[in-house]
Amino acid sequence: MNGADSLDRPVFSLVIPVWNEEAVIPVLYARLVEVMDSTGDPWEVIFVNDGSADRSMEMLIEIHEQDRRVKLLNFSRNFGHQIAITAGFDYADGDAVIVMDADLQDPPEVLLRMIERWREGYDVAYAVRTKREGETRFKLWTASIFYRLIRNIADVDIPLDAGDFRLMDRRVVLAMRRLREKSRFMRGLSSWVGFKQIAVEYERAPRFAGETKYPLRKMLRLANNAITSFSHVPLQLAMYTGFFFAGFSGLGIVIAVLLRLFGHDVLFGQATTLVSVLFLGGIQLIFLGIIGEYLGRIYDEVKNRPLYIVSDAYGFEPPALPIQRRRPRSETVERTPTPS
Ligand code: UDP
Ligand code: MG
Repeated sequence: MNGADSLDRPVFSLVIPVWNEEAVIPVLYARLVEVMDSTGDPWEVIFVNDGSADRSMEMLIEIHEQDRRVKLLNFSRNFGHQIAITAGFDYADGDAVIVMDADLQDPPEVLLRMIERWREGYDVAYAVRTKREGETRFKLWTASIFYRLIRNIADVDIPLDAGDFRLMDRRVVLAMRRLREKSRFMRGLSSWVGFKQIAVEYERAPRFAGETKYPLRKMLRLANNAITSFSHVPLQLAMYTGFFFAGFSGLGIVIAVLLRLFGHDVLFGQATTLVSVLFLGGIQLIFLGIIGEYLGRIYDEVKNRPLYIVSDAYGFEPPALPIQRRRPRSETVERTPTPS
């Protein structure tokens, strides 16, 4: 038991989102203890259970009972990876907060290099992948396109090939806590807050066990969140396209008039008319969709729902549980004897 540690404020807080990771939890915990103990400073790890359907939660509770440095937030359902990280930030107590994935793709040994940078005075040490093993070609390729696209169109400087794996000073975390937008792209927000940032290079290992929790559909949603949260370029595209077609058709009118004046009998066929109408109709619908995308996000903001709901919390003092659990009915209600 490390009961005494929980009384000291930890120097390091690790935030680890967990969704159906029962296959990796024991090894992850063992590696973390080894690496974090070698720092010689008190630390805590906050596992955010993002609505796992497997035994992840039970396993984490078991670990928490053995080691009070292990804290647990249990979401009432699956809220998503980026939201789980947000919750970890909200509850982290350390002077430096480190976000990493549960699947050991972010090797805990890299933490030590981030911590070194932090001790040198940097506020954010973000991990940049020089190599990624065990990923499909498709993922590598789409990721590469995405990072380059977002870098070109975003209002803030988002580093290439950097994931959520990073260390942040408490000041940065306090700043991040103030950003409550609903569609969240945490690495973008981490760039937005600024501070002194430095890259730490590493080779990304393959997943230790289990399958990726980011299928194409979720990757596209993340990319969409990233682009709409950090750029107005898609909206402005409608204007540029409009200018282009207005100019183009203006030219067309002039040409048509000239040809008519000089006696050429130009008549375009029905197909030409139909194709150009459909083409422009398609473009208009696309831009309507883009406007809808931003509009939906505005709607989400206006509803102002909380970002997540915590149903149970373990290891936080004072109890972080927002919902006071009532005693189960069966214990409080007196049974009336059934008439025989
Ligand atoms: N994760 C989560 N909620 C989700 C999806 C993923 O908490 O809805 C966690 C997952 O358990 C892991 C991390 O986020 O710790 C990254 O997920 P994954 O490794 O599957 O993503 P990939 O590395 O394949 O991009
Ligand atoms: Mg992974």
